[in-house]
Amino acid sequence: MISRRVMLRAAAAAGAILPVPATARAAGTADQGPHNEDIARQFPAAQSPPPTDVGSLPQFWATFNNAPRRVTDGGWARQDTKADFPVSDTIAGVNMRLNSGGVRELHWHRASELAYVTNGNCRITVLDDQGRTDVSDVKTGDLWYFPAGFPHSLQGLGPGGCEFVICFDNGGASEFDTLPVTGWLAHTPPDILATNFGVPAATFAHLPAGDPYIFQARPPGPLSADMEAISEPERQPPQPFTFALASTPPLRETRSGAVRIADSRNFKISNTMAASLVTLRPGAMRELHWHPNADEWQYWIRGRGQMTVFSGGPQAVTQNFGPGDIGYVKQNDGHYIKNVGSDELQFLAVFRAPRYADVSLSDWLTHTPPALVAKHLNIDEAEIRRFPRDKPLVVPQ
Ligand code: MN
Ligand code: MN
Repeated sequence: MISRRVMLRAAAAAGAILPVPATARAAGTADQGPHNEDIARQFPAAQSPPPTDVGSLPQFWATFNNAPRRVTDGGWARQDTKADFPVSDTIAGVNMRLNSGGVRELHWHRASELAYVTNGNCRITVLDDQGRTDVSDVKTGDLWYFPAGFPHSLQGLGPGGCEFVICFDNGGASEFDTLPVTGWLAHTPPDILATNFGVPAATFAHLPAGDPYIFQARPPGPLSADMEAISEPERQPPQPFTFALASTPPLRETRSGAVRIADSRNFKISNTMAASLVTLRPGAMRELHWHPNADEWQYWIRGRGQMTVFSGGPQAVTQNFGPGDIGYVKQNDGHYIKNVGSDELQFLAVFRAPRYADVSLSDWLTHTPPALVAKHLNIDEAEIRRFPRDKPLVVPQ
């Protein structure tokens, strides 16, 4: 069996790798059978994989774009859980919109929740396990984090409401299987409620039927009024439940873009999930790297990107991503992401880990004895010394 490398070398020597004339390539790979041109066009790397691709990996592309929406009068929600996207063991994703005044009702759940606001403004309320409460407003580019079991609510603010993505730290968690306040009261005998709350049973005669989930209400008043209403000096949470990720100083910024990080070091409450917001200019690339401590779940916010994932075997698979798509990379699998569009590319990466961690291929090869690296790669030591030594994250520097 001829190795991939030998084949590639032979092909390169014969001038067969690139460029292949577009007409020749189209003739060789044209899809003569039934196909959907609109979908096919979005996946050039799947249609004509780079010659360096090898083997196969479980599908690591998914999307919210065709996830059925649960629509109510106050907004909508849709999700991609492990049931929809089997590779996503550690994170389930929810995409939700709340109209101005639309309320995602008071509820709690078994998973912790990290959310990123992609559009608009939202008011959150939350109670912690020591009875401390918070009400805060978040805006585009902000995160919130609710530990498992902490009850909370969300409400869209004027003028346009809000849209956000929620990550649960369990791939099997479902947004449509949470524990709502209305449901518990509706399924508790009125005399028990009367005893519990110290009011007559008739107080509970008009509980909503069914499951309101997201309902339309009037937009709330000023934040200061809500803060005042719940303010008790001994019930101040020790750390915020929200974090302004998009405006935090970048971990690294180069002429190609920036990487911003939120984890338990700067967003202390978020101790089961870490987030990274990556912005890439046209042509730029998130350098070759991997994550030693967690799988990476990605939400593609804007622009067009191409990601190749490298795993043992060897396996190397390239896929295309666009707005509203979801990507997933298993812990320790190598990957890079290139902006292949003409606009800025941005995606959010979420990890089920208390700290963001990555290993850079370039950092490794420039901090290993050059003679040793040179022997592996058949490259002059002088060339290896030109590799980036300071982990730029986004390249070219
Ligand atoms: Mn929730
Ligand atoms: Mn990564």
